[in-house]
Amino acid sequence: MDLGTRGGGCVHNFVLDRAESLSLMHGTSYPCMMDECRESSVPEIRGAISAAWLGSCLNGFQLRPQVKQLLKNGLFYGIGGVGLFPVFRRIFAGRAAIVMFHEIQRDCRSELMTGTSVELFEYSLSWLRREGWAIVSLEECLEQLARNDRSRRYAVLTFDDGYRDNVSVALPILERNNAPFMVYVPTAALTRTLQSWWLGLRELIRSRDDITIDAMGFRFHCPDFRSKRAALTRVDQWVHQDYRRVAALATTFKKAGISMSALNNQYFLDERALQGLARHSLASIGAHTTSHAALATLDAFSARAELADNRNYLENLLQLPVQHLAYPYGTPGACGLREEHLASEAGYFSAVTTRHGQLSDHKLNQFALPRIGVSSSFDSEISFAGRMSGVQLAAHILWKKITGAAV
Ligand SMILES: [Zn+2]
Repeated sequence: MDLGTRGGGCVHNFVLDRAESLSLMHGTSYPCMMDECRESSVPEIRGAISAAWLGSCLNGFQLRPQVKQLLKNGLFYGIGGVGLFPVFRRIFAGRAAIVMFHEIQRDCRSELMTGTSVELFEYSLSWLRREGWAIVSLEECLEQLARNDRSRRYAVLTFDDGYRDNVSVALPILERNNAPFMVYVPTAALTRTLQSWWLGLRELIRSRDDITIDAMGFRFHCPDFRSKRAALTRVDQWVHQDYRRVAALATTFKKAGISMSALNNQYFLDERALQGLARHSLASIGAHTTSHAALATLDAFSARAELADNRNYLENLLQLPVQHLAYPYGTPGACGLREEHLASEAGYFSAVTTRHGQLSDHKLNQFALPRIGVSSSFDSEISFAGRMSGVQLAAHILWKKITGAAV
């Protein structure tokens, strides 16, 4: 999972939460987020948006992720406020979307906004129904796209990692909506051996006001919610720059007395619960590798084993075929062309990434399917509607035209 793309809440929370890092990043200059904490406001959003039009000035600059997110939210409010989402949907929304969730949390704030709130989850499903999207299984979605069925749009609901709250919180809502769904599960979550560093990090930051991450050479003073969120984001970004850093965090957790197996037991489904879930008529279980390693960092032999062993384990446990895969992390740094070949060679029928995008019936690569992540750390009702309507894609194209920069 990716803490940067997960979480729960409203745009107000997002603005307060992310305002500490409002700035433009040039080259490798990256000032410490902890030094920049400040409140944000609507005028700041306007200021950030107006900056977007200074295309020539921005040439050669890269926007920090937080600024990009703020700009996107400004766009969602602007475009949604004048009722233009249906227009964008006709042009940019494609034929289908695979929606990605992780934890569905009843109290996002206590979990430092690392999942999707139950309110946003319920809203997502009701929005899809209201706007005429058919919520279908991944198989059916791919079949309809292959058949070139243009009668309606399709949505697939996916959950990564196999959290307990997918059953205790999300399942009753899915049942009420008669919504099929897919849960991608790594073996190590079930065997309680997963290096679930994101859970360890959340526990560490939540329970302490001063923490030291030895491997980063960093100390964080985080006595309140906002500084805890900032510290969480900072360490998360550091890991995503090089997934091999996950191993280095283990020492910090051990020193702090944080037990990975206890956290795994607390948050992830166990084997029996997964067997029960797999028998549910709405559920499908997919693969997520053995150890949740970023496959691109492994040699081909190890990556092959991660793909094959996880599937064998799940098929033996569930006595069902496991045909679909989610690459751990799902970013370009974690999975690329080689991993697509390995997934195909391992006999999977499809593989999803965490790259943002909708599905159209042409140019469909079944081994690099994009998804739309829904997280309360950056999402609100209007941003969900906007991103499902293709506004983020439109903004991406427009930004590239203005600045020539990658968004
Ligand atoms: Zn995952």
